[in-house]
Amino acid sequence: MNRTIMPAPIPMKLPAPTSEAWEWQLQAQCRGVDAALFFHPENERGRERSARAKAAKQVCERCPVQVRCRTHAIEAGEHYGTWGGLSEDDRKGYRRRSAFRHESHVSPLIAG
Ligand code: SF4
Repeated sequence: MNRTIMPAPIPMKLPAPTSEAWEWQLQAQCRGVDAALFFHPENERGRERSARAKAAKQVCERCPVQVRCRTHAIEAGEHYGTWGGLSEDDRKGYRRRSAFRHESHVSPLIAG
């Protein structure tokens, strides 16, 4: 059976440029923490990258706005960095699973 693979949805919904939409960041546990903990260098891979993401997630675990931050990252399609306790790879997995769920709901009549 030749199935049509739907691309992962690319959510690009940035919040409005109002203080209300962004004020959750004022409560962020990562305020004052070096952003390099949340964004790895371009060529970093393997253990170093995992260790960086793990350390960032430990900060996120104590954050009172973790869910809001995670929601923002997913809705805005943030590709880089650790947000809301999710690394880039975590969000890639989420997007793949979302695409699969979307695909599984495509009618067989149009799926081919
Ligand atoms: S969840 Fe993590 S990345 Fe998001 S605001 Fe809190 S500490 Fe920062």
